[in-house]
Amino acid sequence: MKVPPKLLSFLKGEDKFFIATHISPEADAIGSSLAFSMALESLGKVTVLYNRDPVAKFCHFLPGHEKFKNVIPSRITSELPLILLDCNTLKRAGIGDLRFKYSIIIDHHETEEDFGDIKWIVPEAAATGVMVFYLIKELDVNMTKEMAINLYSAIAIDTGTFRYGNTTAETFRVTAELIEAGANPAYVANNLYETWSKERFALLIMALNTLEIKDNVAITFVTRNMYKKTGASPEDTENFPAFTRIMKDVRVSAFFRELADNYWKVSLRSKGDINVALIASQYDGGGHKNAAGYEIKSDLESAKGALLKALPFASHSPIEK
Ligand code: 5GP
Ligand code: MN
Repeated sequence: MKVPPKLLSFLKGEDKFFIATHISPEADAIGSSLAFSMALESLGKVTVLYNRDPVAKFCHFLPGHEKFKNVIPSRITSELPLILLDCNTLKRAGIGDLRFKYSIIIDHHETEEDFGDIKWIVPEAAATGVMVFYLIKELDVNMTKEMAINLYSAIAIDTGTFRYGNTTAETFRVTAELIEAGANPAYVANNLYETWSKERFALLIMALNTLEIKDNVAITFVTRNMYKKTGASPEDTENFPAFTRIMKDVRVSAFFRELADNYWKVSLRSKGDINVALIASQYDGGGHKNAAGYEIKSDLESAKGALLKALPFASHSPIEK
């Protein structure tokens, strides 16, 4: 993977950067931003890390996560260049109303808009973490254990720990180097998958009890009332859509999370050639071929109905290519 020379010379030439990533960030967003910030700081540069949302508890094992700020220091945006990681629009980062003197995009999402002075978007990259791995090498920065844990976790989460279609020989070459640099796969897997609270598990049980399967599309949902009943929170729904994908005949897993009255966040997961990013982009959302999302202002039944209508091909689509 080749890092654009223009990007490298820009990074070498500036001293201070504003780094942001997408709202409701997960381990690729957080891990790749942290590793990148650490690399720039080891070159004597200053970075400000921002996210609209607090770092979720399931990412608190990532070294340096406390560096993320949820408030933007005044005047900073007009003065600093923006580096947007794991997303490619200001809206997706929750900062649609801000303007920057210069902006850089480092991302691997299929859906993109015309934004950014330097755009490095590689949809074939399994994770933004893979791109940052090459960037760190090109910057001639020593890969520390902290950076390695962040990047390994980023790649692990976005490949479903090396199970999804985006997993390649390159994924293993990169992660092998990260393990040599100090990332421990068992430690990361334990933190990503085996640290659930009882409340989170109770919410999963409730969500699974809403299961409905139509035309090989598995639909589950979580309402705000379920958070009250279980003591869990919205961030606890991370990875919920992965569970119904387990079923052999399920081609698409759709998970609806209630944001407000008649306002839902939809997470889609698919198998094989079904491109759910195309469906999400019809609703101004986006993502990857097999994992995408969008928001919809409607009642739940209409939102489900509209989705099923958009997926008439799901039941015939082959799972393996
Ligand atoms: P999740 O369903 O876990 O929230 O997201 C799955 C994938 O779709 C991630 O790569 C995420 O960045 C992307 N995605 C989810 N929701 C949205 C959205 O509202 N807009 C865009 N552009 N991408 C989204
Ligand atoms: Mn990602």
